[in-house]
Amino acid sequence: MTAGLQYPFDLGSLPDAVIGGIGHAGGGLSRQLVDPAARISFAEVRDASLAQVDHSAFAAQTALRLWADTPPARRAQVLMALADLIASQADELTAVECVNVGKPLSQARRDVLRAAEYFRFYAGACDKLNGDTIPLGPDQTAMTLLQPVGVTAHILPWNYPISTLARGVAPALAAGATVVAKPSELTPLSTLMVAKLALEAGVPDGAFNAICGAGEVGEALAAHPNVAHVTFTGSTETGRRVMQAASGPVAGVTLELGGKSPVMVWPDADLDAAAEGVARGIFFNAGQVCAAGSRLLCHADIHDALVDRVVQRARAMTMGHGLTDPDLGPLISEAQFARVEGFVSRAMADGLTCATGGQRAHVPDCPQGLFYEPTVFTRVPETCDIAQVEVFGPVLITQTFETEEDALRLANGTPFGLVAGIYTADAGHAMRFARRVEAGQVFVNGFLQGGDTVPFGGVKHSGIGREKGVSGLRAYLAEKSIVLSHGELS
Ligand code: NAD
Repeated sequence: MTAGLQYPFDLGSLPDAVIGGIGHAGGGLSRQLVDPAARISFAEVRDASLAQVDHSAFAAQTALRLWADTPPARRAQVLMALADLIASQADELTAVECVNVGKPLSQARRDVLRAAEYFRFYAGACDKLNGDTIPLGPDQTAMTLLQPVGVTAHILPWNYPISTLARGVAPALAAGATVVAKPSELTPLSTLMVAKLALEAGVPDGAFNAICGAGEVGEALAAHPNVAHVTFTGSTETGRRVMQAASGPVAGVTLELGGKSPVMVWPDADLDAAAEGVARGIFFNAGQVCAAGSRLLCHADIHDALVDRVVQRARAMTMGHGLTDPDLGPLISEAQFARVEGFVSRAMADGLTCATGGQRAHVPDCPQGLFYEPTVFTRVPETCDIAQVEVFGPVLITQTFETEEDALRLANGTPFGLVAGIYTADAGHAMRFARRVEAGQVFVNGFLQGGDTVPFGGVKHSGIGREKGVSGLRAYLAEKSIVLSHGELS
């Protein structure tokens, strides 16, 4: 795979930034983008300078009136056109995402098509953003208008670059707000490609800007006085910094942060279905998923039987370059690989039982690749690091419980609260759990099912605000109340 690698895309004319409708060369640091399976750099992108951060926020402010006043039906047409363009370029976008992130081709394709679907879904909302009327009696009329919040900043992670871009940018544009998007410095390409397609679709110059860079650029953007709302997806630690930066302009924040999500299994569950959901829920995208089900909470009576099934599935998983569409690709970077290795070696040193995996995986076609074996540690004490902290790799831990109270205490026993799953045939268990578990989304007899029209977001250290579905529009709309005193007909 590594020798003579030919990538199925041409990045020839891709700019480093799209600002005010024009492609720009970045004024900052130059970065090599690395294919993490082959460990070769395949592209180079330059960060924005701080002056370009300012320029992009200014361009978004300048475009605001025009886009906000564009008739909703026209905004919808433009977003539909963008969805169609993304779908029509799906092959190239998929290949870019697959090589840059290292994810399996079919998963990359799904992300690209989801991005198109976000634009389609929110296009349908443009002309349905109705306000309210409030009864005040016969001599006054009160109403609310839902107006675009202003300039919105979108700071993105590397694990789902194109779908996290679209899940924030599509509702923002649908609401009539304008956008500055800053992708992760590891995976900027799909954002730049979509920003170019947006111009082709008819998004006015300056309404959708894209700039590249790392923390310095992100922080300058979040703190920019023109920015009214920051949508950030990334780690909890960085989320805190973003929140601080956004406090300068008193901007709103949506924070989609990390997780340590529990999947609970009861003896009355279909164990094969549960094992399938658990294995997919943690090993999907090599575990580099905020909503990964990284803690299997298992009733003591079925622990071994269930773990056997999960381990069998883990061992059967294929690994390889994303372009060969394996079950698992590599981890994104050396830093991420070292992070996963660190957690595993500390767990080994603590004497935890590793039922499978626990080491680097060697993939003959990609000898340098950053592959890690799907790993399962069993019966992990609650106090262990690996039971509390997000690993963000293909590492599952198991814990056992006997009673419903125990199970819920375990489920709620980390600082995170992103998603939670339960497998049981007992609707009572399921509903009691769903009501009391501290999580933004709960899945019963499945994991991560439901799609992108269902609201998504965390509680506790997993974040603030909701994206996806109709709820995803709220952050981008400012509600204005108008009270008209007109007197009564005498
Ligand atoms: P990260 O926090 O390192 O970086 C996220 C983004 O923030 C990047 O674009 C980065 O350049 C930027 N950034 C870094 N420092 C900044 C600063 N001081 N100010 C402003 N921006 C800054 O996260 P990551 O490593 O890219 O992604 C992995 C994390 O993201 C995991 O914790 C994962 O759980 C989380 N995540 C959450 C969701 C969700 O929807 N809840 C989705 C995907 C990933």
